[in-house]
Amino acid sequence: MTLIDGIFIDGRWQAGNGATLEVVDPATGRVIAQVSGGDAAAIDTAARAAKRAFPAWKRTPARQRGELLRAIARAVEAERERLVALQMQCNGKPRFEAELDVGDVVATFDYYADCCAAGTGLSGNPVTLPDAAFAASVRFEPVGPVGLIVPWNFPMVTSAWKLAPALAAGCTVVLKPSELTPLTEIELVKIAQQAGLPDGVLNLVCGAGPEVGAALVAHPAIAKLSFTGSNKVGQAVMVSAAERVARVSLELGGKSALIVLDDADLDQAVSLALGGAFFNAGQMCSATSRILVARALYPDFIERFRAAAEALKVAGPDAGAEMGPLISRAQQQRVLGFIEQGLAEGGLLLSDGRRHAQRSDGYFIGPTVFTDLSTDSVLWREEIFGPVACVRSFSDDAEAIALANDSDFGLVATIVGGDVGRTEQVAAELEVGLVWINSPQVIFPHTAWGGFKQSGIGRELGPWGLRAFQEIKHVVASAAP
Ligand code: NAD
Repeated sequence: MTLIDGIFIDGRWQAGNGATLEVVDPATGRVIAQVSGGDAAAIDTAARAAKRAFPAWKRTPARQRGELLRAIARAVEAERERLVALQMQCNGKPRFEAELDVGDVVATFDYYADCCAAGTGLSGNPVTLPDAAFAASVRFEPVGPVGLIVPWNFPMVTSAWKLAPALAAGCTVVLKPSELTPLTEIELVKIAQQAGLPDGVLNLVCGAGPEVGAALVAHPAIAKLSFTGSNKVGQAVMVSAAERVARVSLELGGKSALIVLDDADLDQAVSLALGGAFFNAGQMCSATSRILVARALYPDFIERFRAAAEALKVAGPDAGAEMGPLISRAQQQRVLGFIEQGLAEGGLLLSDGRRHAQRSDGYFIGPTVFTDLSTDSVLWREEIFGPVACVRSFSDDAEAIALANDSDFGLVATIVGGDVGRTEQVAAELEVGLVWINSPQVIFPHTAWGGFKQSGIGRELGPWGLRAFQEIKHVVASAAP
C-alpha cells in the first residue's frame, strides 16, 4: 500500500516524521490507505510558512480572495462524484448523507466568495460620532495565521466552515484534520492548491492530536485557534491558548432536545426524531438524542418511533444503507458501554441496536431507543456520539422547556408542533444556538452555528463566522486641521 503524503507546506507535498495514520473503511474494517503524519517540527515549519505568507494574503484585495474561493467551490462541484465516494468510504456514510456533505462544502465556499465579491463584513465603515470635531471609521482586519483543528464526523464540511471564512477574512491557515479521516482534507487541500491559492496560505499537517494538535495550539505564530471536537480536548486547547492569550473559537459537544408538542403531527415528529437521532449514525454534535414528547402523544409516539427505528436499513454505503457504521472499533465499544450503562441505570430498551454489533463486516450498532431513564442518568446527560436516543414524556410546555434546558450543553433543539406562535414561544425560551421548528436539521451558510454553555465559544458560518477570524480596529481622527 503506497504511503500518501499527509503534509502540505508552502505549496509542497511531503512525507512526515510522525506516526503513520491508517485509514480504515468503517463499513468493512479494512485499511484503505496509509498517510504519512507530521510531528511538532512539521507544525513549526507550517506555522512559519503561514506567518510568512500572511502579509501578502492580507493585502490581496478581498475581491481576488473571493475569486479563489469561487474557484474552489466550482472545483469541489466538478469533483462531486469522487468526493462523495471518498466520504462514503472514509466514514461509511450512506450516499445521500455524503452527497449532502459535499453540497454543504460547495455552498460554504460560494457564500464566503459572495461576501468577498460584495465586500460584506470585510470593508471598513464610517462610524457616526456625537462630536463633529471627530471622524471615525471601523476596519475589520484578519487576525493573523490561524490553526484549524477538526474532528472526523463531518470532516470536509467542518474544514470548509473554518477554511472558507478564514481565507475570506485574509488569514493564512494551518489545518489539522482528524487522524481517522485525513483523506478528505488532503483532497480539499489539493483542490485549493489547483485553484491557485498562493504558497503558504493554506498548509496541512496530518497527525496525532496530542502531539500535532497540541503543538499547533501552542505555536507562537498562530494568532487564533478554531477547534471543533470533544469538550475534553477543547478545554485543553483553551488552557494552552490562554498561556499566550491566543484567541479561540470552540465548537464542542451537545445533548440536544427534540420537543414534540401535543398538537404535533405524529408522522412528522417521528420522521424528524429519526433524522435527529440517527443521521450519521448519531455521530453528530447536534444529535437530538433527548426526545421529549407531550404525554397525550407519548404512547403512540414511542410505538411508531420504535418501529421506524427498527425498520432503518443499517449497512455499508454500497448496500443501500439508511444508516451506516460508527467511525471506529473504539467508538463502537464506547457506545456499547453507554448502552450497558443505560441498562444498569434502569432504562428500558425499546429498540436494541446491539444486534448489529455482532456482525463481522464493520463497526455497526443499530438504532437504539431507551425510555424510563432518570434525568440524573449518564445516558440522559452525556453526549454519546452514537445511535442512541432517550425518550421521555412531559406534561406541559413549561416542563418541556425546563427539561430541555436542564443540560450542561446548549447547541441546538428541534420543536415539532402545530401552532406557530406557540412553537416560537418555546423556541425563545431554549438555551441553544439554533432551533429548528417542524424542520429537519438543514444548515444554511447564512445562519450561525455554535452553542450556549459547554457547547462552545463563538459562532461559525454567516457573518459571525467571518468575524471569528477578524480583529476590529477603530480609527478616530480629529477633524481640526
Ligand atoms: P477530539 O476532541 O478527540 O478530536 C478533535 C480534533 O482534535 C482531532 O483533529 C484531534 O486529532 C485533535 N486533538 C486531539 N488531542 C488534541 C490536543 N491535545 N490538542 C489539540 N488537538 C487535539 O474529537 P473527535 O472524537 O474527533 O470528534 C468528536 C467530538 O467532536 C464530539 O465530542 C462532538 O460533539 C464534537 N463535535 C462538535 C461539533 C460542533 O460543531 N459543536 C461538530 C462536530 C463534532
